[in-house]
Amino acid sequence: MKTRRRTKIVATLGPATATYDSIKEIIVSGVNVCRLNFSHGAHEDVIKLINIIRQIDDELDLHTSILGDLQGPKIRVGEVENNGVALKQGDELKITTSPCVGTSEKVYISYQEMPKDVQAGEMVLMDDGKLQFEVVSTNYKDEVTLKVLHGGVLSSKKGVNLPNTKISQPCLTEKDLKDLDFALEHNLDWIGLSFVRSARDIIELKHIISSRNKHSKVIAKIEKPEAVAELDDIIKVTDAVMVARGDLGVEVPMQDVPLIQKNIVEKCRANAKPVIIATQMMESMIENISPTRAEVTDVANAVMDGADAVMLSGETSVGAHPNEVIKAMCKIILKIEDDYADMYGKDILPEKNQDRFITDSICFDACRLSKRVEAKAIVTMTHSGYTAYKISSQRPKANIFVFSGNKRLLSMLSLVWGVETFYYDKMVSTDHTIADIKYLLRKNGHIKTGELIINTASMPIEDKGNTNMLKLSYID
Ligand code: PEP
Repeated sequence: MKTRRRTKIVATLGPATATYDSIKEIIVSGVNVCRLNFSHGAHEDVIKLINIIRQIDDELDLHTSILGDLQGPKIRVGEVENNGVALKQGDELKITTSPCVGTSEKVYISYQEMPKDVQAGEMVLMDDGKLQFEVVSTNYKDEVTLKVLHGGVLSSKKGVNLPNTKISQPCLTEKDLKDLDFALEHNLDWIGLSFVRSARDIIELKHIISSRNKHSKVIAKIEKPEAVAELDDIIKVTDAVMVARGDLGVEVPMQDVPLIQKNIVEKCRANAKPVIIATQMMESMIENISPTRAEVTDVANAVMDGADAVMLSGETSVGAHPNEVIKAMCKIILKIEDDYADMYGKDILPEKNQDRFITDSICFDACRLSKRVEAKAIVTMTHSGYTAYKISSQRPKANIFVFSGNKRLLSMLSLVWGVETFYYDKMVSTDHTIADIKYLLRKNGHIKTGELIINTASMPIEDKGNTNMLKLSYID
């Protein structure tokens, strides 16, 4: 029987993983979710990647999830002369919204509203916080004067963070709206929303998705201090969360990131919302063939905290060893899942005043029961994915096998901790379906004769209603 990994892997595709062979290799090695980063790459290139992933899925009978990550209001400087200008502590630097080739005195910024939004005394960070500035003054029109607090070389197109500024730009830029159209046209499973500031940003995106009659789910990327402050409200309305540690570690003091990460994971699990830990997990493997000890421990800690997924960015998009990164990550995850005693059975009691109290109680009790009787698997038939999220959030030791006749739902659920998905569209009667599914699981080697399994379902099955029953039985 194969070893089952519970924590999922999200891999960003890019030049290093743009061919059928390279994508197939990393999917076979363990990638569950392919991330398409709309910050890079033209739509015609992205279509090729989507088609390759779906072809591999058809060939291997897999349900790989696809995440389209919108760039959001990312602020950048323009081109600078000699592709790098030196800025010294105490110097003044003018920021202009009129396009120009930058010098050590004046640099173009892509954010037209910056002179209206900033105030004297606010911090400006560039190149992942390596360069630090303070706003001296603004003409409220097209120019801001900064004082260099911590200098260095500023290269072309580097990112800019304004951690203290109340940004007036909307969360969805014009570019995002075009990328969103494309993502919805191609029915991507997940849409990542960058630089989320409030629950309203998520509600607005979900409104656009539902008004187009689409079913893509939303991932709120937490990378702004405002989002950390509004975490509870954001978690309530979003479908999933990403701890986007790259920008987060620039926007808040870096030493705050570990506790923010732990807090987000705990809250997401309590709300049955999948959570991804992102950025620099195996960064050194962009060049090296093995990770540093600190990176191994970072991945292990994310698994121990109970994240649904760990994410790779440059490691798989531009790195020299994308497949080795996936293999190394799988080894770390499997070791922790095998040996860390506190991994499983993190009970979350269902609340009586919830709409889905019956379903929540069935999922909770299925997990409790699976622990007591040492059931091998909890098997659920889902129409919306709700039971899959709920069972997964209890982190049961039993395998979670999810059956549905909706292929898009199955690929969406590939992000969720522990969930293994199976296509099944013959919902005849509850008794028949359960017997048939047990037969299929045994025949395909997922479960052995004599093992106990728990089925959850809605009765009567043909109503496709909410889960309201559980059954414990042996495999014949
Ligand atoms: C991050 O900032 O950590 C992140 C994942 O965002 P992106 O890579 O889209 O900038």
